[in-house]
Amino acid sequence: AEANIGVVGLAVMGSNLARNLASREGNTVAVFNRSRSKTDELVAAHPEAEFVPAFSYEEFAASLTVPRTAIIMVKAGKPTDAVIESLMAVFESGDIIIDGGNALFTDTIRRENAVSDAGFNFVGMGVSGGEEGALLGPSLMPGGPDAAWVTLGPILKGIAAVAEGEPCVTHVGHDGAGHFVKMVHNGIEYADMQLIAEAYDLIRRGTGKSPAEIADIFAEWNRGELESYLIEITAEVLRQVDATTGKPLVDVIVDEAGAKGTGAWTVQTALDLGVPVSGIAEATFARSLSSHREQRDVSGSLPGPSPEAFTVADADAFIEQVRLALYASKIVAYSQGFDEIRAGAAQYGWNIDLGAVSKIWRGGCIIRAQFLNRIADAYDADAELPVLLTAPYFVEALGRAQDAWREVVRISAASGIPAPAFSSSLAYYDGLRADRLPAALIQGQRDFFGAHTYRRTDKPGTFHTLWSADRTEIEAEDTH
Ligand code: NDP
Repeated sequence: AEANIGVVGLAVMGSNLARNLASREGNTVAVFNRSRSKTDELVAAHPEAEFVPAFSYEEFAASLTVPRTAIIMVKAGKPTDAVIESLMAVFESGDIIIDGGNALFTDTIRRENAVSDAGFNFVGMGVSGGEEGALLGPSLMPGGPDAAWVTLGPILKGIAAVAEGEPCVTHVGHDGAGHFVKMVHNGIEYADMQLIAEAYDLIRRGTGKSPAEIADIFAEWNRGELESYLIEITAEVLRQVDATTGKPLVDVIVDEAGAKGTGAWTVQTALDLGVPVSGIAEATFARSLSSHREQRDVSGSLPGPSPEAFTVADADAFIEQVRLALYASKIVAYSQGFDEIRAGAAQYGWNIDLGAVSKIWRGGCIIRAQFLNRIADAYDADAELPVLLTAPYFVEALGRAQDAWREVVRISAASGIPAPAFSSSLAYYDGLRADRLPAALIQGQRDFFGAHTYRRTDKPGTFHTLWSADRTEIEAEDTH
């Protein structure tokens, strides 16, 4: 036994993670893949790396020092279960099995229960940053027991991305906490991308600027408070010219957005938890709408405003309004995402440090941004902050942005340009701010048709109006 860490599954993610591990002082990396060819190729292509190739689970186990520590990077779902079974057959009590795939957090909870009942440590770990992150430094979101973190922590700190001198990894919480946080990360990523896409669309159709000109605008924005990886790559994509047609690449790409399902998981989970992540939901639905080509094909003749409805008198002023609307909507999207993490932690009993989560997203992952420092500051000042966007920094930013935000949403509605994420985040913001909500009327309706009862503003208790009798009010048992 000579390897201190092992990787099972040597497709693009696993082989890059194995190379990253091997490049760090002190690591010797056991590598194993179901089909031998990937192992042979990895070892042959990287003679510089300290790999110990294994060609069976027995060899793999024998090559690892105790406690054996192995990261699984295989296709999520059944393959992960199959590999866990195989590892449990050759590992010993106290060894550590880590799933770095994109597992649903409820699967991780189930797996941790089964694996720990058998005497092993199980860690579900979110890995963000794609192939490049895996190789050069990902953002890592491990869950699992404290005992595993003692062995695993130093190894992960060695390979994670570094942001402002700190490694982008923290022990998020027990069992499914890491995969839960990774899921919400991806949901926030959907919202952020949709907001950027709406900003591009409004500027393009409102000012007639070319994609290359808009690329310059995004590059400029990337020097300010919006500075982030997604803004940076947006400029790159918009500047790209298609070699075949000479057109902007963005005009050649089919306008149907794909999805691998983590955005939908975030929304489904939020519905179960009762957390309004409207920005993430709108972003997920906007992708769905875009990909329903057959419905879009029969809808082009639906009436809309006349083209003259959208004339922007001062292009520069409008672009600045869009920038502010984007920033405000982004604050809402992140606030909603952190609200989901808070609610998930309460539901599943995880002790998640929200400030630490925002810090590990500052490097390695797709949503890395300056902005995350502001979130960390907010939670440093008040770890129990009930609504992130009520932190003083965000209140100031929203105050600065709100007139522009309202104007952009007004223009989008008047001109018939869809801005679902901009407008729903504004509606969420105004809903939170409202002194009274029409939920009172909804309670009245519910009481009318279902005797669901209501509470009164002026006295304690639960009440029901006898709607189908003389409409007097009676005290009722609380039935919701
Ligand atoms: P894939 O998801 O394409 O999975 C391929 C790997 O899974 C191969 O090594 C394959 O082995 C192995 N495998 C499949 N079925 C089995 C099985 N029944 N038993 C053993 N091994 C099996 O690989 P990726 O590298 O793209 O991703 C790995 C994991 O990382 C996935 O869970 C993915 O969701 C996650 N992830 C991916 C990111 C990305 O950007 N791609 C980012 C973050 C996480 P064989 O060669 O024998 O077929």
